[in-house]
Amino acid sequence: MSWTGQKKVFEGFVGYGNFNNSAARMPLRETEAIALRTYRLGEADKIVSLLTRQLGRLRAVAAGAQRPKSRYGGSLEPPSYVRLWLYEREHRDLARLNSCELIESFFDMQKDYRVQVAAQYVVEASEQFLPEREVNERAFRLLLVVLRAMKRSGEIVRPLVYFNYWLLKLGGLLPQIDRCGACGRQLGVESGYYGEGSEHLLCAECRRGARAEVSAEARRIEASFKGLALDQWIGAGPPPRALNELRRFLEVLVESHVGKKLVTRPLLDEF
Ligand SMILES: [Zn+2]
Repeated sequence: MSWTGQKKVFEGFVGYGNFNNSAARMPLRETEAIALRTYRLGEADKIVSLLTRQLGRLRAVAAGAQRPKSRYGGSLEPPSYVRLWLYEREHRDLARLNSCELIESFFDMQKDYRVQVAAQYVVEASEQFLPEREVNERAFRLLLVVLRAMKRSGEIVRPLVYFNYWLLKLGGLLPQIDRCGACGRQLGVESGYYGEGSEHLLCAECRRGARAEVSAEARRIEASFKGLALDQWIGAGPPPRALNELRRFLEVLVESHVGKKLVTRPLLDEF
């Protein structure tokens, strides 16, 4: 642990009025994290939902975080990238935050409404999609890369496609998009169809009520970015015209696998 880390440990021990013995037996853990959401707990505290690099997704109590002069300041505002120190508590869902320092803020980029909504979407999808307490370094890096790309470029469509595509792929839930998920037929130059709750594309014969469409042109985009880093892709010229078709389909897939409506997804439909 770094010197700064040691100092934080010390502050933790002297700074906690209600510090108790059960917490003392649990080691203080240091991890990087992205704040996904905060909500109030009682009069003074907050619960912070976090995607951590070293401990997976978890929730922690930030004591006093609602107070105006809280030592956390704005550092826990989603989707801040932070370094934090916390106690895990045996037999309890909630960890206990000890201290936190801001590594990178994504506050300013959210003055642009589109970027704000897109950032809220990737954060909500991460919280709903990723299992709790499962270390997933690649998902952590994915979220960070996508937030940084939106911050740097102000673009949302390629970051959203890239995020959904890799979230599904890393989870083993990305279907083959070049064939019908029901009869297995190659779609070739035909469009594939899907509806709410779909987990794959369907051909014209199998689609029944499914109306939303992903054209062959949109499906071909997959080959153009799957070997690229997101920044390379964004740097390679303007986004392909049919990209939004692919984006919307991937958003539906993510929502289908989450198993409930995402609050932010309908907001993305405006774009
Ligand atoms: Zn079919």
